[in-house]
Amino acid sequence: MYPSRFRYEAPRSLDEAISLLHNGGDYAKVLAGGQSLVPLMKLRFASPQLVVDINNVPGLDYHRADPDGTLRIGALCRHADLERSGLLKTTQPTMAAAAPLIADPIVRNRGTLVGSLCHADPQGDWASVVLALGGSVVARGPRGTRAIPLADFVAGPFQNILDPDEVAVEAVIPAAQGARSGGYLKLERRVGDFATVGVAVALETSGGTVTRAGIALTGVGGSTIGATEAAQALTGQPLSADTIEQAAELAAQAARPRTDHRGSAEYKRHMVRTFVLRLLSRADAAETEERAA
Ligand SMILES: Cc1cc2nc3c(=O)[nH]c(=O)nc-3n(C[C@H](O)[C@H](O)[C@H](O)COP(=O)(O)OP(=O)(O)OC[C@H]3O[C@@H](n4cnc5c(N)ncnc54)[C@H](O)[C@@H]3O)c2cc1C
Repeated sequence: MYPSRFRYEAPRSLDEAISLLHNGGDYAKVLAGGQSLVPLMKLRFASPQLVVDINNVPGLDYHRADPDGTLRIGALCRHADLERSGLLKTTQPTMAAAAPLIADPIVRNRGTLVGSLCHADPQGDWASVVLALGGSVVARGPRGTRAIPLADFVAGPFQNILDPDEVAVEAVIPAAQGARSGGYLKLERRVGDFATVGVAVALETSGGTVTRAGIALTGVGGSTIGATEAAQALTGQPLSADTIEQAAELAAQAARPRTDHRGSAEYKRHMVRTFVLRLLSRADAAETEERAA
């Protein structure tokens, strides 16, 4: 199908993009990688009257660490940039594990992490990763700039809390206070598919104790789920068979899966438990090895 008629604008500055959105009202949409918006428009699930393509806005394609370790990912940083990133490989194990699992190489060449967060698909992988890492989205609009924790940014399935005239300019991952470990595991029917189940685990440890934990779940609820009780059960504790088991159980309880063509609710909950066990056990083994070295 063809999209409904729409006006297309490709501004060359952020101010111009914001002004176009402001004057475009509720029926204007930002286009970043277009990997979710364009299919939705072709299916006429989305029929914006104005599309504001931000791809000509300079200076948004970065991902970089501040001197204190805070990571910033610009609105035009592609999934492929993150997949190839040496910075992520050395400093962000959860993000580095997720990057190659997003869609397929063609989608990864165009799609953006920030666009994925804005799209708020319950099956979007980046939202779980950023939620587990305690990240936020920085939005800019006519009234200024604000930082929104990801836990507040996603309002529901395919809904975020941006005002219609705001652009999400970057995602921010706070600096780790201790040694960072974790990962992302995804069950998919075939390579490149959306997650049947995904689990992101992000840990910070100091002297064998977990100082911060984040666990978030993909595809097992109406939106990305932060398994906060599971994360709390780990915080202030050393990783051990008991704490790992308890966190896996609490994460499985936090899941809200539905039976569908990808599997039964029971199977998906079981996979959440299995993935949390696996990720935490790996982190525990790596830490034990490091201490022994
Ligand atoms: C075949 C296929 C398979 C896929 N598989 C996966 C998968 O396995 N895992 C996964 O996580 N994703 C998957 N995706 C989605 C993909 O990751 C998209 O790239 C992503 O969801 C959206 O990013 P985008 O930059 O393409 O956003 P766009 O499509 O340009 O925009 C998506 C939405 O976000 C809004 N938006 C985008 N950027 C901004 C901004 N800076 N400020 C304000 N609003 C903004 C748009 O207005 C639109 O509503 C798949 C897509 C396809 C086509």
